[in-house]
Amino acid sequence: MKNNLFIISGPSASGKDTIIKELKKQGVKFQRVITTSTRPMRQGEKQGSPYWFISKEDFEDLIKEDKFVEWALVYGNYYGTQKKDLDRCLKTGQLVILKVDPQGARSIKHKFPSAKIIFIIPPDLETLEKRLKLRGKDSPESIKRRLEKAKEELENLNQWDYLVLNEQGKLDKAVEEVKRILKGA
Ligand code: 5GP
Repeated sequence: MKNNLFIISGPSASGKDTIIKELKKQGVKFQRVITTSTRPMRQGEKQGSPYWFISKEDFEDLIKEDKFVEWALVYGNYYGTQKKDLDRCLKTGQLVILKVDPQGARSIKHKFPSAKIIFIIPPDLETLEKRLKLRGKDSPESIKRRLEKAKEELENLNQWDYLVLNEQGKLDKAVEEVKRILKGA
């Protein structure tokens, strides 16, 4: 299979969404897979952007019906990639970008070995904490969980295909690097 599936992963608040948004702004042509979540919608979000927001019960029904390529419990909420959403993007033949947490990235790679994982590294845990607090979208408890998880996720960096450091104030550099990786596809 031609390699056109890229997984963007990394700890919470490492800058994955910002990088993806910037790629779009700069005219990079790609299909973004919309994944499904049971977490509450945040201000400014809507159905289908960035997730299909559904109830826990509906999510569990979809699990039973085997509708997911992968799913995970992340910070107490379900997140998953539905087969139909990934298939729809892959069928276009365009570059496909999927944003998932590191465990999701590993399971997708297992099923699609030619997919490439781009792991976004935040500068350091203090900056990550500041970003999480600044975006004001998560409770103190959720921030604590996200930071603990980030610490784990920043071990074993050699398991990923590409590493991109998203330094504070140097978003352009990270975006350029991701663009270079995508171009090499
Ligand atoms: P957030 O709640 O901040 O939007 O996302 C929390 C985490 O869930 C992020 O690390 C994000 O990458 C991950 N995530 C989003 N969609 C999926 C998915 O379909 N599967 C998995 N495993 N993780 C996901």
